Amino acid sequence: FDQLRATDPEIADVVLGELTRLRGGLQLIASENLTSPAVLAALGSTLTNKYAEGYPGRRYYGGCAEVDRAEEIAIARAKELFGAEHANLQPHSGASANLAAYAALVQPGDTVLAMDLPHGGHLTHGSRVNFSGKWFATVGYTVHRDTELIDYDEVRDLALAHRPKMIICGATAYPRLIDFARFREIADEVDAYLMVDAAHFIGLVAGGAIPSPVPYADVVCFTTHKVLRGPRGGMILCREPLAQRIDKAVFPFTQGGPLMHAVAAKAVALREAAQPEFRAYAAQVVRNAQALAAGLADQGMRPVSGGTDTHLALLDLRELGVTGAEAEARCDAAGITLNKNAIPYDPQKPMTASGIRVGTPSVTTQGMGEPEMRRVADLIARAVRTDPGEPGGADALRRVAAEVTELVGAFPAYPRG
Ligand code: PLP
Repeated sequence: FDQLRATDPEIADVVLGELTRLRGGLQLIASENLTSPAVLAALGSTLTNKYAEGYPGRRYYGGCAEVDRAEEIAIARAKELFGAEHANLQPHSGASANLAAYAALVQPGDTVLAMDLPHGGHLTHGSRVNFSGKWFATVGYTVHRDTELIDYDEVRDLALAHRPKMIICGATAYPRLIDFARFREIADEVDAYLMVDAAHFIGLVAGGAIPSPVPYADVVCFTTHKVLRGPRGGMILCREPLAQRIDKAVFPFTQGGPLMHAVAAKAVALREAAQPEFRAYAAQVVRNAQALAAGLADQGMRPVSGGTDTHLALLDLRELGVTGAEAEARCDAAGITLNKNAIPYDPQKPMTASGIRVGTPSVTTQGMGEPEMRRVADLIARAVRTDPGEPGGADALRRVAAEVTELVGAFPAYPRG
């Protein structure tokens, strides 16, 4: 860091500012986590210099012996941890992994059945502003209006009506377990591939806290930076018969040279995720999310679907008369980072939204447990209810921020030394 400061004080200041932000507030974005110093060391290593187009033992560049070792280790760890037949660790991101899965399994114009974005699906699951919605005939399934759970009967009906070539399950804002066996059955009935986008919950799978999609899916795509706690990036698991198609879809079809420092950092994260401590961590992430959802429910914020089985909860704020955008801004002012989120059948526009999404990967990494989640719920509720435009509002938010600082001070992110 001293070298960075000497060379580029402006960017050094940004890096330090971000560390201060992480240390000083509550990080409740469900898709974020706090990587270990070992992962950061691999990311900041000389492996970033190496061009390594191709795969271990089959590169288009010389000098790849060391990066080959990194990628072989990473692949072996991924296969072992997830019980997968094949692993590709080169996707630069979750969206890149998904693009490669489309490229491997379907042709432009083919029909793909995936979860609607406003119901929790990701942009790459068929949004009109994304390649998936532009190049493919995507059909969206929803959650049931009453239960707010995936409506498997609707999924089956849509599959029978539209005969998709690929069905996608997995979401960005769905707090419940997904019935992978049911999706497999539906996919088999219409002879479709089943792609599971496990970006959000793969870390819980790695830690044994929730069931794995690997035995059911043709292809499992995910990001490595959420609960899994690795570097930003993507990964793909698949069955052996699809291995070549997946590898070719990543390189040379959708990407050039892999980011070998990121591949090495993924290997480090996979090693960490294979330790017994990570199993305890994953279980605690879920307990914390459940405690947080219950605490927020007590404060008048309705957990969508009644609660959570995972690392995240979606809260409907309509009873409080506060929009998701207002809640996000108020929490921000109090040092609590979370995001506004559409709820199923949301009457508001996405930039306003009726809900917020909270997640517990980061606070659990910091060592917080259920008692702290009760306190966090109280702090969120006080912030959400405080209108900074009202007399005394700004002061009230400052008081919440002071309590946030005190709480996180006892569970520091990246402790000094
Ligand atoms: N898939 C899902 C379900 C996600 O939630 C996300 C990101 O949040 C992605 C894919 C895309 O990942 P990335 O932002 O790394 O491209």
